[in-house]
Amino acid sequence: MTQSQQDFYNCSYPELVEILERDFAASKFRATQLFEWVYRKGVTDFSQMTNIGRDLRARLEQGFCFPRATVHDRQISQDGTRKYLFEVDGGDLVEAVMIKQASRMTLCVSSQVGCAMACGFCRTGTMGLKRSLSTSEILQQVNGVIEDAKSFGDSFSNIVFMGMGEPLHNFDNVARAVRNLTNSIGYAMSPRKVTVSTSGLVPEIRRLVEEKVNVSLAVSLNASSDEVRTQVMPVNKRWPIKELLAAVRDFAQGTRKTVTIEYVMLGGLNDTRDDMKRLVRLLHGLPVKVNLIPYNDNAGLGFNSPTRDWVFEWQRHLNQHGLQAFIRWSKGADIAAACGQLATASKRQRPSRLPVLAGEAQAAA
Ligand code: SAH
Ligand code: SF4
Repeated sequence: MTQSQQDFYNCSYPELVEILERDFAASKFRATQLFEWVYRKGVTDFSQMTNIGRDLRARLEQGFCFPRATVHDRQISQDGTRKYLFEVDGGDLVEAVMIKQASRMTLCVSSQVGCAMACGFCRTGTMGLKRSLSTSEILQQVNGVIEDAKSFGDSFSNIVFMGMGEPLHNFDNVARAVRNLTNSIGYAMSPRKVTVSTSGLVPEIRRLVEEKVNVSLAVSLNASSDEVRTQVMPVNKRWPIKELLAAVRDFAQGTRKTVTIEYVMLGGLNDTRDDMKRLVRLLHGLPVKVNLIPYNDNAGLGFNSPTRDWVFEWQRHLNQHGLQAFIRWSKGADIAAACGQLATASKRQRPSRLPVLAGEAQAAA
């Protein structure tokens, strides 16, 4: 990439239209063609873009670059889950995971290197925030996985922002990535199949609605009382449960979407019978479904996993009280690709064990 070159993957469609008009005296139609070549057909070699004139192609080639994240490592779990370690700009390493489920494959991508939210049960939370990823670095994870998936003859059907980082703490870059993923001349994914998961940044949940970012929402509630939630999720001091659930209600009303409530079950701490009943009351009347996530002990942070029977008991109770509840058992545990296991690494300081994943994708869509 030369200094003056624009990273194509950092442009939304309207931004590309503007750049083409301003710097290339080219029409909107050219932006459409470029989006189609790059995202629909996967072509980044301008010489193949035969419906664009030779002269313009030559100038575009000077103007744009298409960076690729290098696959630093790839591990394959016995259950078919694949974990990718990508090297992005500046040598930072981030993880993306392809999670195999019965009828679909879900791609889980990272939005930041590290995370500022410091949740006590999450490996990523122990490392602090190093930096946010650009839109391009987010899409480069997607592109890298698409490329690699060819050798497996598969691809993903869903994308979740549940890898490293708090996506709504990187709002603009994540929103732009979502727009390109769901643009019909971009990756053309259904907005129902792209999910942003948040620890509960209330103003940014509202921004999703205001700025019409068409995406599914998952909220990591993870406790039924402010006392316990604040203990394990410091963000709760700023945005307590009541305000968070008010934002959930407004999001659901504003978008006519069902919101996924994630509940990591921390044995003995947030999964008592009282919690179960309180959760039913808290969520009463909200258009939500619940994903129960047994705490992943591989995170090694001193919490307990609930027993299988107790997880099923929770599911039964929620279902009986009119709440749709699903259980998200960890996938890819043998390659440390499951929930709450992602910790960072940099190229220069590689730990002896691979960094592990913070967020197994909860196929929330
Ligand atoms: N920052 C966002 C998305 C990444 S975390 C968020 O917090 O929602 C993705 C999911 O993994 C969250 O629901 C989080 O609560 C869960 N998680 C984190 N650590 C976990 C662990 N050790 N076991 C199980 N789930 C965990
Ligand atoms: Fe960050 Fe999500 Fe982990 Fe909390 S659970 S530290 S918000 S990645």
